Amino acid sequence: MDILKETVTIEPEIIRIRREIHQNPELAYEEEATAKLVADKLEALGIEVKRKVGGTGVLGTLKGARTGRVVALRADMDALPLEEMADVPFKSKIKGVMHACGHDTHVAMLLGAAKLLAAHKDDLHETIKFLFQPAEEHGGRGGAGPMIEDGVMNNPKVDYVFGLHISGDQNSGVFGLRGGPIMAAPDTFKIRIIGKGGHGSAPHQTIDPIYIAAQIIISLQGVSGRMIDPVQPFVITIGAVHGGTKENIIPDEAFLDGTIRTLDESTRKRAKAKVEKTAEGVARAFGAKAIVEFEKEAYPVTVNDERVTEQAMKILKKIPRTKTTIVKPIMGGEDFSRFLHEAPGTFYFLGTKNPAKGCTYPNHSSKFKVDEDVLKYGAASLALLAMNFTDPTRDAK
Ligand SMILES: [Zn+2]
Ligand SMILES: [Zn+2]
Repeated sequence: MDILKETVTIEPEIIRIRREIHQNPELAYEEEATAKLVADKLEALGIEVKRKVGGTGVLGTLKGARTGRVVALRADMDALPLEEMADVPFKSKIKGVMHACGHDTHVAMLLGAAKLLAAHKDDLHETIKFLFQPAEEHGGRGGAGPMIEDGVMNNPKVDYVFGLHISGDQNSGVFGLRGGPIMAAPDTFKIRIIGKGGHGSAPHQTIDPIYIAAQIIISLQGVSGRMIDPVQPFVITIGAVHGGTKENIIPDEAFLDGTIRTLDESTRKRAKAKVEKTAEGVARAFGAKAIVEFEKEAYPVTVNDERVTEQAMKILKKIPRTKTTIVKPIMGGEDFSRFLHEAPGTFYFLGTKNPAKGCTYPNHSSKFKVDEDVLKYGAASLALLAMNFTDPTRDAK
């Protein structure tokens, strides 16, 4: 069977669905209309549907005629809080909300794959689960955890799980894969610096939390430069500084918001401890107090199974007019990491960068624009991975 040829016949439908979702973006845990569209489409294909899974998520289950393995395919559904500035005729109709990470394309590609797979039900092995996940962009309490708690990875137990992300950084039609860690653990933290306020002209009578905040920002870069193994990828960024009301008032307190990104659990643990100790120590040196709080439910490192990724690469190489490449890890976080804690699998990228079509902006940009010609490749890749990994004789082939 020529899967790409079949996908080309449903390409207009995939693009239509994508544009409909793009025009009606919904934020994390508010994906009501998107979830309804997904559930209705799956039902129309004869796929068993469970709504309201893990909040606004949808689970589709397609049973094949033959015995084999269980494969789950995941798409996230949420949009981002930013105003669309992209030059497209199907611009977001919702003010201040935009599908700037391409999750609209993920939904459309997975629905495309579902259609292809449903058409081949009699040749399929065992079970394919379609996980339409809410709130990937939520951070912390993203939608993957609640879906897992609602049992999507069990009954029947998932043997392999795959997730696809569209990427504005890679060229159109290029699949990017990597075994091992591919995305970072994003640990968000807040630092509250408690000093003693007073007059700006008499700093000696105060404990200036603004000055101490500045010292802490500088010192925290020493965590990456002096306390973490230099061959381990590590990022620390302070993205927000708050404190004070007027130039001649030294306030009582100041606040810092930051994030650290790591690719392995031991560096992660060490970095968090060092951030805490450094902030507390610097504040103490100047007579102040720093309270450091890390977000509790941060996403883990996204770790792809080496063997599954290698096999997936071989499978994707068979899709005509596309390329596969090994990508570097990315220091962004991904909720898909939680599914990979439940079953081996791989999270991979599909490039959409195409200067000739004005698709040059990265994900999360207000001008992010997708080269829709690649959506068929994405749908075909998901269908192919499901067909191959459900087949128990795959290893012998
Ligand atoms: Zn994103
Ligand atoms: Zn995303």
